[in-house]
Amino acid sequence: MSVVVRFAPSPTGFLHLGGARTALFNWLYARHCGGRYLLRIEDTDRARSTPAAIEAILEGLRWLGLEGDEPPVFQSTRFARHREVAERLLAEGKAYRCWCTPEELEAMRARARAEGRPVRYDRRCRERPADFRRPGVQPVVRLKVPTEGETVIEDLVQGTVRIANAQLDDMVLLRSDGTPTYMLSVVVDDHDMGITHVIRGDDHLTNAFRQLQLYRAMGVEPPAFAHIPLIHGPDGTKLSKRHGAVSLLEYREMGFLPEAMRNYLVRLGWSLGDREILTTEEMIRHFDIRDVGRSPARFDMDRLLHLNAHWLRQKPADELVRLVEPFLRRLGLELDETGRRRLLEGMAELVVRARTLVELAQGARIYVAPRPLQPDAKAMKFLGEEQRARLARLRAVLAATEPWTPEHLEEVCRAFAAREGVGFGKIAQPLRAALTGTTVSPPIFEVMRVLGREEVLARLDDAVAGQHAAAQQSP
Ligand code: GLU
Repeated sequence: MSVVVRFAPSPTGFLHLGGARTALFNWLYARHCGGRYLLRIEDTDRARSTPAAIEAILEGLRWLGLEGDEPPVFQSTRFARHREVAERLLAEGKAYRCWCTPEELEAMRARARAEGRPVRYDRRCRERPADFRRPGVQPVVRLKVPTEGETVIEDLVQGTVRIANAQLDDMVLLRSDGTPTYMLSVVVDDHDMGITHVIRGDDHLTNAFRQLQLYRAMGVEPPAFAHIPLIHGPDGTKLSKRHGAVSLLEYREMGFLPEAMRNYLVRLGWSLGDREILTTEEMIRHFDIRDVGRSPARFDMDRLLHLNAHWLRQKPADELVRLVEPFLRRLGLELDETGRRRLLEGMAELVVRARTLVELAQGARIYVAPRPLQPDAKAMKFLGEEQRARLARLRAVLAATEPWTPEHLEEVCRAFAAREGVGFGKIAQPLRAALTGTTVSPPIFEVMRVLGREEVLARLDDAVAGQHAAAQQSP
């Protein structure tokens, strides 16, 4: 049997981390089995399912590399088919029209509550003759669910789960306005799309029991079910806004890479020994939905940052330059030819100091920001009068230094410090402050190599002339 899976998000305005992981597990399982991975947009709530909400989901999936193997199916286009199935079940006597009014149903519920019984439809319309009518009432259509025995699901993640049929309701398939319910739509669509494995959050486990009744009534083979545990926050409660960003695309904005998100999300519930770093190829080779654990995984930002740092370092410099460009723009910095060249040359030392593209952009400012630099407050402390005078003397030395290599520059600066009768730090810190406007940067002689002599001398001139201070004072 060839595996067909689907990811079936309801468009709520964004793709959350839990949904992204569900999509990933479906995608991986399909790739692992050589099967197909389909998308179904469950846009039956017409008020919420705006084009923007749908686009936000698709955009998240595109970014993560989890687009469907075929164009998405839009559930709202399939109402006629859903109704057709309900009509057939009616004709076959497997479903019935329920003429109870909202008032009757409310009275029924109130009585059940008062008597401490579970609130359930009491099936009073189930045995009415087919030609029964109640003037002025638009009936709903309900499924005839068995009242005895039990329903068992061999869930690929949860194991054997069972429920007494007496606990099931004769669920509504068509509302009184003729629109299909979620339960009907999901089952008909999964069947028509040829879904063999339903992999989704375990908040849908109770739905699965009811959906199984519908498959049976339709006389078709149900898919296998795999209900994966939800993602929890670090405090052990269901992941929510309280824990930080829950929308996948917010992580893109925070400078995470899709490779890192995939690596991180797959580890929330599935593991390959104690391997932390996994390539997508490795995940595909080894992933089996049966190996997903039953206990909820906890979201851990530090691990995600750690993985992102790893995946950033795997990228070639030119790709990192391309990736960091929009983040530089947010800092108000445009890349010109010079900036681009410096970033390419200096990237190796920048990327090892960054965990996200946001941090990489911050680090990259030293090569991109226009002169005169605007040093931060800490750097300004190293640019007092005495230090600037010393930098002026160093400038004269550097103007004639040859060759312009990190090793030679270091020798020259150490010799200069000795002549000045000060420790090397007394030279290096003001130099760093003058050349980068910060107190933390890649090794300063490496920065000097990347900047080149002309720029180094010009930045020293700015510092010596007190341009920095002036730049800081002006708005
Ligand atoms: N549309 C449902 C949701 O977003 C998923 C339904 C399913 O996977 O069966 O929670």
